[in-house]
Amino acid sequence: MPATPKTMDAIVALCRRRGFIWQSSEIYGGINGFWDYGPLGAELKKNLKDAWWHDIVRCPGKGPDGHFIDMVGVDCTIIMHPKVWEASGHVAGFNDPMVDDKETKDRFRADHLWGLIITDAPGDAAFDLKMTVASMLRNGYTVVHYSFVAGSLGEVTDYVKTNPKELREFGKVDGDIVPHPFGVAVPYPKGKCGLIFPISVDEQKIHYLELPSPFTGKRGTLTEPRQFNLMFESHAGPIKDEANKVYLRPETAQGIFTQFWNVVDTSRVKVPFGIAQIGKAFRNEVTPRNFTFRSREFEQMEIEFFIRPEKANEWYKFWRDSRFAWWQSVGLAGENLQLREHDRDELAHYAKEGAGTSDIEYRFPFTAPGYGELEGVAHRTDFDLRQHANTCGKGDKLKYFDQELQVKLQNEGASKDEINAKSRYFPHVIEPSAGADRGTLALLCEAFTPDETRPSGVYMKFQPRIAPIKAGIFPLVNKDGMPEIAEKLYLELRQSWCVQFDEKQTIGKRYARMDEAGTPYCFTVDGETAGTQTVTVRHRDTQQQERVGLDKVGAFLKEKMSM
Ligand code: ATP
Repeated sequence: MPATPKTMDAIVALCRRRGFIWQSSEIYGGINGFWDYGPLGAELKKNLKDAWWHDIVRCPGKGPDGHFIDMVGVDCTIIMHPKVWEASGHVAGFNDPMVDDKETKDRFRADHLWGLIITDAPGDAAFDLKMTVASMLRNGYTVVHYSFVAGSLGEVTDYVKTNPKELREFGKVDGDIVPHPFGVAVPYPKGKCGLIFPISVDEQKIHYLELPSPFTGKRGTLTEPRQFNLMFESHAGPIKDEANKVYLRPETAQGIFTQFWNVVDTSRVKVPFGIAQIGKAFRNEVTPRNFTFRSREFEQMEIEFFIRPEKANEWYKFWRDSRFAWWQSVGLAGENLQLREHDRDELAHYAKEGAGTSDIEYRFPFTAPGYGELEGVAHRTDFDLRQHANTCGKGDKLKYFDQELQVKLQNEGASKDEINAKSRYFPHVIEPSAGADRGTLALLCEAFTPDETRPSGVYMKFQPRIAPIKAGIFPLVNKDGMPEIAEKLYLELRQSWCVQFDEKQTIGKRYARMDEAGTPYCFTVDGETAGTQTVTVRHRDTQQQERVGLDKVGAFLKEKMSM
């Protein structure tokens, strides 16, 4: 079988065929932005979340202060008091700009609109000014073509690469599409060069009547960009009126902030410490797309780490770097993972004054050559705690009392007023906020390994700790006592791991199924087993086999899972 090229279509097809991910409500034609995990996907995502909970909550390492990190977990509700979302700023500000094509009824996010300009000057030297719609409309360049495309940068570059009808006269893209200070540069044959560049929402507000629709190319059919709140609404109780309006949480963080005081009162934690949570979040995304990457229902793995304000820089750097290393440790070790520090003008309202914000990003097939966010690490200052303290009316009474700091200041001879002022404060927060679904998708993309020696031209190279099935247990044939030995081994191993017993079809077909599921090891009970008390173990990646003692299989797997 020729190797299956690593494309998003091939990854989605494998996910569907093998039961990793399906469309929600598929028998009714699906529902946009909602996805279900099948048996393999549910195990994979659970393994990712379990690894996170284990490494973050149960067994965190040491912080920059040399002490073991103090971390506790919570599990809060999806629906909370509506005031929570007023205090957090989500009712007023959790918006995306949206544009409609009045004629076709198509819709896109205004911050996802790109222009494509092609000039007959070769090389990207032609684009020496920041592209703006106005400059394009003025035709300040030797423009031989321009059009507008909506989507992610990866989708737009894919679109250009497929040589669509309106671009055919320029020939096929001739070389690599490379990052450019204003977007990405697209080389065309015969000395032409293209540039794909973002069109800002502000510019669209001015020029929307002159902009050609990305769907039809016609002018005058687009609406002005307008804000659209992403929170799903519902009503608690039988009466559907404004007073009973509630929201499905758009982030898990606010559950943590509102329970901060209960955690402090009941858990003996002291600043610096963290509260972690895994849970569902909901966002009514304008254009859900790219498989599970932008869903309307998804799961987050969030940490709110509470610190003294003056320690923000060191803790921010610590979490940024240790979260990056964690993603590497679960199997995203290659060059598809990157850490990107935000520019100041990209920062959220609460982070402007902070130590920084960065994204841990993965190069998905649909974002390449660009990257998509897996996790954001932000210094949220004391914004959220202060907001909740003020909105609930208790204000400064909810300041955290730092006894250790009080003692330290007393020992340093500080005045009473100074001690009082300094030892009561709202802690600052460093927030590493990760997506479990985007993480699972990145693991699937990374694991997809084209290989012509496998029957379906591909195998899934998951790290053993993350793999949905840890081992296949097979009797070579269904006679001579082999099934009984294999069954006994299976019953023993399944107490500790997700393993699968399979006695059907040829051994080659069984290996092939396990390769597509990403199972790292297969143990086969064969004709020698009864005599030598050994089984063969077949390694997924090398396809090599060796013999291992029947009584050593458990220890073998244990060692591999901890690697
Ligand atoms: P984006 O800019 O891609 O919309 P964001 O910056 O709004 O993401 P955050 O609010 O920082 O995302 O949420 C933290 C994490 O939650 C993200 O890094 C991502 O992994 C995940 N996440 C956010 N929105 C979605 C979504 N619509 N579908 C799946 N995962 C999501």
